[in-house]
Amino acid sequence: MAKYGMAIDLDKCVGCGACALACKTENNTSFETNSKKFNWADYLTFTTGTFAAGDVSFKVVPVLCNHCTDAPCVEICPVTPTALYKSDTGITLHNQERCIGCRLCQTACPYSEHDVDEGDAQYSVISYNPDNGPSHSFYADETSTILNGTSSPKEVADLVAVMPPDKHDYTHPDYGAVRIDNVTEKCIFCDHRVQVGDDPYCVVSCPTGARIFGDMEDSGSDVSLAIANGAGRLKDNSGTYLGSGEAGTNPNVFYLGEGVPTGIKRREIETPVELISIYPNPSVNNAFIEFKLKDSSNVTIEAYNIGGKIVKMVLKDQPLIAGNNKVELDVSDLSAGTYIIRLSYGKTVSTANLVVSQ
Ligand code: SF4
Ligand code: SF4
Repeated sequence: MAKYGMAIDLDKCVGCGACALACKTENNTSFETNSKKFNWADYLTFTTGTFAAGDVSFKVVPVLCNHCTDAPCVEICPVTPTALYKSDTGITLHNQERCIGCRLCQTACPYSEHDVDEGDAQYSVISYNPDNGPSHSFYADETSTILNGTSSPKEVADLVAVMPPDKHDYTHPDYGAVRIDNVTEKCIFCDHRVQVGDDPYCVVSCPTGARIFGDMEDSGSDVSLAIANGAGRLKDNSGTYLGSGEAGTNPNVFYLGEGVPTGIKRREIETPVELISIYPNPSVNNAFIEFKLKDSSNVTIEAYNIGGKIVKMVLKDQPLIAGNNKVELDVSDLSAGTYIIRLSYGKTVSTANLVVSQ
């Protein structure tokens, strides 16, 4: 039986937010309300220096439930059987029918807060849908976005007669596609997707391939190889990492890259596709993407904006030869700015930035 975990490569993460938006659309979570975050995929952000001094630096650390092996949220849950429980595949699942909303799990989880505007917390792994909902309170607002010019969120919701109006539907034995009132909620590693062989939606939506999901017990899985020589794990929701010899709650979300205190050089995985260069950069009306393939294979190349939205499909599942390849990219219809070129072969992803100056 697989035991699932995730690695997040901070050197690849560009902080675009695509994973957080993907999670919101997949799991129909509410917008932040009354200091409850409802962001199952969230971020810690750190800014140092100043623009005036020319030394400003911005760092993003994506965060989510760590699916801890020794999960205190499960241990403290008072109902029988517990509403929070560990699945056979190592995922910390939540049964929303058994949950009585006592919030003890929020207190026990070192990565959670009842209210994120108390103290210094930027996020909470576990959120709580208050009594007397509605759980999507944004859509109860009767104020027009532009006075007398647009409809209100409530009018949209009433018209569609679905909550939320952009609901993505799925089924799972433990949880519904939308949370009910008076229960807690958190990331469930998209178990409804994992059970049918798909990766969590945040993983497939990351334009840079920074998130790696898989079986921790398979030493040859991508996630096992990625952390084979060491990785950091968060201690709490302040951004502090567990120290050497510290196990904490045995989190199963791992961090790689600069700033993560592993003290060990990362193992470089031989990739079947290696992005070499993009030029001219900045360009006139076209750019060339050069890359090397280890074997002949089908390749997809997409261009994303820095908001994580795909703006151009360059190649889709195109069979290409082993060795050096060059693909022309028409940039005449792209406005000036920075784009992420994502080149994928199966689950292997290479990325590079393209600056368009026209
Ligand atoms: Fe439970 Fe918190 Fe660990 Fe997630 S991060 S398994 S909610 S203790
Ligand atoms: Fe268990 Fe629900 Fe209480 Fe959390 S709020 S401890 S899941 S019953």
